[in-house]
Amino acid sequence: MSLIPDLATRTVWFLTGSQGLYGEETLRQVAEQSQQVAALLADASEIPVRIQWRPVLTDSAAIRRTMLEANADDSVIGVIAWMHTFSPAKMWIAGLEALQKPLLHFHTQANVELPFAEIDFDFMNLNQAAHGDREFGYIQTRLDVPRVTVVGHASTPEVTARIGTWARAAAGVDAVRTLKLARFGDNMRYVAVTEGDKTEAEIRLGVQVNTWGVDELADAVHAASDADTDALVAEYEDLYEVVPELRRGGDRHESLRYGARIELGLRAFLEAGGFGAFTTSFEDLGALRQLPGLAVQRLMADGYGFGAEGDWKTAVLVRAAAVMGAGLPGGASLMEDYTYDLTPGRELILGAHMLEVSPSLTSAKPSLEIHPLGIGGKDDPVRLVFTADAGPAVVVALSDLRDRFRLVANAVENVALPQPMPKLPVGRAIWRPEPDFATSAAAWLSAGAAHHTVMSTQLGVQAFRDFARLLRIELVAIEVGTTLPALEQELRWNAAYHRLAQGI
Ligand code: MN
Repeated sequence: MSLIPDLATRTVWFLTGSQGLYGEETLRQVAEQSQQVAALLADASEIPVRIQWRPVLTDSAAIRRTMLEANADDSVIGVIAWMHTFSPAKMWIAGLEALQKPLLHFHTQANVELPFAEIDFDFMNLNQAAHGDREFGYIQTRLDVPRVTVVGHASTPEVTARIGTWARAAAGVDAVRTLKLARFGDNMRYVAVTEGDKTEAEIRLGVQVNTWGVDELADAVHAASDADTDALVAEYEDLYEVVPELRRGGDRHESLRYGARIELGLRAFLEAGGFGAFTTSFEDLGALRQLPGLAVQRLMADGYGFGAEGDWKTAVLVRAAAVMGAGLPGGASLMEDYTYDLTPGRELILGAHMLEVSPSLTSAKPSLEIHPLGIGGKDDPVRLVFTADAGPAVVVALSDLRDRFRLVANAVENVALPQPMPKLPVGRAIWRPEPDFATSAAAWLSAGAAHHTVMSTQLGVQAFRDFARLLRIELVAIEVGTTLPALEQELRWNAAYHRLAQGI
């Protein structure tokens, strides 16, 4: 079962601010025009969610009531607010303080062109968002309301695309706030960056991170039926280029059957517990005979978050990215910077993992193979082998700096394999980072960003910037225009800001 949502089932409310002072006729026009603006957003293909117009708000009690209703409705993932006329902003204090859903301030107006020949004061009175929204901006800033501000007309594709990116980030916020993550085993021994404060993660992000004994998973794996295993193996043979030794009748077919049992057991365990993300640890496999490879790859492609070596923070990111990118070409996967091509001027990063890279990164047919694994001391694991499609992507890491969580996002360009790599039997990607290799790597290291990332080929840095802002966590972007001195300054300022923002 896929956990990738249809974002069209998620709702964003379109709120319009005004006041009673204008009288019935003007408020009727405000309602009509705001419905037209909401309809433009609802029809925009760049906005993946359902836009629902709500009646015009003209007083404090109605505003607060609407925000409380938005909080209480699980299908509502965010709120867009536009002050069509002038909506005195003290009316918004109680509502904005009550609102717990992501907010977008849409600074727009009903008309595109200024009607120079026709304009009179009635028109001015009706169309005054230019200063009505400034009043609203003031109170949001004074209340320190996290929000994304978008400026422009609803008929402009750049504007609707920007709103669509915010909507995807809002869906990501909803996904982590409702996420239950199962850890099988602990973090890899002695590793620092995969550690973190799980209580703080639940406070800041909403995600529930808890541990289960790996032998509970092994029991589920060994309980998989022969009939289900047969059916899943047949599916593999249909979907992938299965090497002859793993096929029915092949020498190592039993290993493929065991890989299928791992998938059946994992899915059963995760579905029964309502988990949307999980981690494994190669140092703690209990009675499992293979490190889960193929199963993890396929679960990530179905929208599950995953982190290797107990890395629950990256598992959260993989889940968030899968939801935020829903419906777009490409996918989201655990990734790890592995090794470089340091040819001057043509530097490249080869990313992979021991096994666990999602086939959602490729549009080609992966090959299903079996090879030894140097660590773990278990049977050889089955895995999908492929190269991520060329094209723009982003890699994002989450570090726990003890006083805060820091996201670091690097815009990258996946490239086609310059040469075949016939002896490297893992899913992998090769990319060129922005703004250039040396700046990217130095910035990454200066920021203390992790070696595990989520790679998304569906999203850019902006979606994660919105995601971080809505969750009030830090985001450091490494992208076109980034310079190392400015980034190092930003890290110092951010340290001061985040400590002050926590209060005493
Ligand atoms: Mn790793």
